Amino acid sequence: MTRLARSLDRLRPHYDVVVVGSGYGGGVAASRLARAGKRVAVLERGREFITGEFPRRFPDLRQQMQVTGKRVRLGSPTGLYDVRLGEDMHVLVGCGLGGGSLINAGVALRPDPRVFRDDVWPGEIAQDGLLDEGYARATRWVRPARDPLAAERTKYKALAHSGAALGKEPVAAPVVVSFEDTINAAGIAQPACTRCGDCCGGCNVGAKNTVALTYLPDAAHHGAEVFTLAKVRHISKTGDGRWQVHFERLDEATNGAADALSVSADVVVLAAGTLGSTEILLRSRENGLALSDRLGHGFSANGDIIAFGYGGKIPVNAIGVGHPPKVEGIDVGACVSGQIEIVGADDLAKSLTIQEGVLPSALAPMLPVLFIPNGRLLGALQSLVAGVYKGPFARLQTFFAVSHDSAAGRLVLEDNRIALQWPTAKDEPVYQRLDAVLEALAREVGGSYVKNPLAGTLMGQQPATAHPLGGCRIGRERGDGVVNHKCQVFDGRTGAGPRDVHEGLYVMDGSIMPRSLGANPLLTITALSERAVIHLARDRGLSFDDEAVSSSAPTHTGVPGAIT
Ligand SMILES: Cc1cc2nc3c(=O)[nH]c(=O)nc-3n(C[C@H](O)[C@H](O)[C@H](O)COP(=O)(O)OP(=O)(O)OC[C@H]3O[C@@H](n4cnc5c(N)ncnc54)[C@H](O)[C@@H]3O)c2cc1C
Ligand code: SF4
Repeated sequence: MTRLARSLDRLRPHYDVVVVGSGYGGGVAASRLARAGKRVAVLERGREFITGEFPRRFPDLRQQMQVTGKRVRLGSPTGLYDVRLGEDMHVLVGCGLGGGSLINAGVALRPDPRVFRDDVWPGEIAQDGLLDEGYARATRWVRPARDPLAAERTKYKALAHSGAALGKEPVAAPVVVSFEDTINAAGIAQPACTRCGDCCGGCNVGAKNTVALTYLPDAAHHGAEVFTLAKVRHISKTGDGRWQVHFERLDEATNGAADALSVSADVVVLAAGTLGSTEILLRSRENGLALSDRLGHGFSANGDIIAFGYGGKIPVNAIGVGHPPKVEGIDVGACVSGQIEIVGADDLAKSLTIQEGVLPSALAPMLPVLFIPNGRLLGALQSLVAGVYKGPFARLQTFFAVSHDSAAGRLVLEDNRIALQWPTAKDEPVYQRLDAVLEALAREVGGSYVKNPLAGTLMGQQPATAHPLGGCRIGRERGDGVVNHKCQVFDGRTGAGPRDVHEGLYVMDGSIMPRSLGANPLLTITALSERAVIHLARDRGLSFDDEAVSSSAPTHTGVPGAIT
């Protein structure tokens, strides 16, 4: 596929709409507003990866790691895997054109209906019918599907074996993966999944329905201009009511003149993810933009952890083989094929879902090293000699878990950088519940539960999440939220009414969630963004459809249905 991004030298001084960030929220906003005939620019800090460019080997993967903590800053600021080390919790997010969709497992679940019955949501969300419409559109565009062969995967069978400990059978998990050759809604041809397992390393086949293969090419097809390596610092309001978006270029030395670069817009959609959008608004507030004092509050980790069962007695085959495959004859499956659902009938907080996951092939050489600190040297050496596709790592179970927490974390600016404060995070009841369940699952197949193979390194003992939510949460008014149900940002000026908003300023991404979802968040982020742009269009007298682009229509690059 031809690249979508163009050089920042071609950025115009003004657009109708500037979208900051290119994950699910940003992709939806860019596609829909470009379809509505608006002149749209997308500013993304990361670089563009096209199919085939994702890291295949460990040295490539290491180059794509960026690690930021209070006392540490390693790697390139455009590294694909963006690890934030926190005193209380670590967070992993994606950095690149397409955001987290590039490296996620693609599980697409709609939360338990009780989530939306919670009082934290403004009434309109449940009442105006557009939430269902948002999910319908999201589903049409990211196309969750269950692997028809899910139950045949070795890792699925291993989960079934483990599930006996809880009296639970797994079910096939819906993932945003094309299991057959297809032309998607953006008119892009996608080949069928090869079941290589590398989804979290980046799909080198082009079968994962990422934002980069769906909403973003659609946006470009309808005229949106896409720019990478542009990191937005803050936004400000100009005297004539326009927005000024201040950014730094990451594609060249800026010689300290970073904040001198800016672009103006009538409408700004912040879609830089939970950490990114909250950071931009916190910094904008420091630069004089009046906002709700709830900004930064209500961070949730979505009760999400990744953990392992090591030393089990049955085959699992949950190390990706990549594409082209590094070893023949191992049919791994998509990153997640099956899940066990535990429903807290009387208490939503006790609901949890455990998914069997796959580690990307590029990480494979590191596995023995990772597991050595836990005293498993002998087994690890066996795998070092035989390769990770044999020996104990062929029996390694990887579990992704998702549940509920109290959303009591707080994002703040420290040294002009976003930091998470949540001193009681490790005491959240969800972690004890997950420990008990995962321990039972690992034990059932003769293995032991490894909560964190990196404990004892600079990762410490803190929990970690790949599902950061909140910080710009939806509320009824400025006193309980940062944005309203339409994702418009509340105006915090003295004298402004509690429901007054900053005209033309929106947030559409994971940061708007006012609570944990207890389900992998991509579908809900996409659905709420679809819902928000419907409202935006109605409020501004715009119209657009979300019909699929005809496969025979040229894409913006003039390559009809180009296979990536
Ligand atoms: C390894 C992993 C596995 C996951 N698995 C699943 C799963 O199976 N199912 C699921 O539902 N979810 C999963 N997730 C989570 C999911 O991917 C995220 O919740 C989702 O991507 C968030 O979407 P978003 O639109 O909020 O923002 P993001 O996808 O995070 O996109 C934000 C974008 O903004 C850019 N950005 C940030 N700051 C700036 C700035 N200052 N200027 C310009 N651009 C900026 C970022 O680079 C990024 O591209 C996983 C995440 C990871 C990391
Ligand atoms: S299993 Fe492989 S081919 Fe299939 S979606 Fe994941 S990375 Fe792509």
